[in-house]
Parts: sequence; C-alpha cells; structure tokens
Amino acid sequence: MDPAEKIEVKERIQAAIVAAEKDIATLEELTKPISPDNAIGRLSRMEAIGSKSINEANLASARTKLAKLKYALAGIDKEDFGICMECGEPIPIARIMIVPESKFCVSCAE
Ligand SMILES: [Zn+2]
Repeated sequence: MDPAEKIEVKERIQAAIVAAEKDIATLEELTKPISPDNAIGRLSRMEAIGSKSINEANLASARTKLAKLKYALAGIDKEDFGICMECGEPIPIARIMIVPESKFCVSCAE
C-alpha cells in the first residue's frame, strides 16, 4: 500500500468510526426500556418489543464494528496492515476501502 492509499484508508476508517458512533447513539436511544403504558404511536407494544430486539442486535454489531475500526486505525501504520491474516497475501485496496476493519482477503473471509 503506498502512502497516499494509506492516507485515504485512514480517512475512510475515521469517517466510518464517526458513522458507527452515530449509529450506536441512535440505537442506544431506540433500545431504552419500553414502559408498559407509553404512547408508541402507531406501533403496538409487541411490535415495539420486536423492533427493540432487532435494534439490540444492530447495536451489538455496531459496537463490534466500531471496535474493529478502532483496532484497524490503531494498526494502520504497522507493516502487516492490509495483509490477509489467513494467507498472508495483500488485501486488495478496493476491499480495504469497503471493509477497512477486515483482516482477511475476499477468499479467506468466505
Ligand atoms: Zn487471504
């Protein structure tokens, strides 16, 4: 990876971190306990509980993603950044741009 690509990846990761933090804040808001008698609008309480569990799952994956992004950002200046942990081949820059938190190339990730 050349230095210009590295800067681009770094910016991409930082932007993804900001986005993930925003998602987490929104999801934390959505996963607050539902009181039995509050007005949920058009949603019934059961529906609200259903979407709450979806939001909780999304919140958990957003937190995992954020942790991975922070890890990727911390490791970006290391020599093995962008190298597949499985096969040791460089991960294509296009893939790093899409999933900067990935430690595997496309074929090893499958
Ligand atoms: Zn690989």
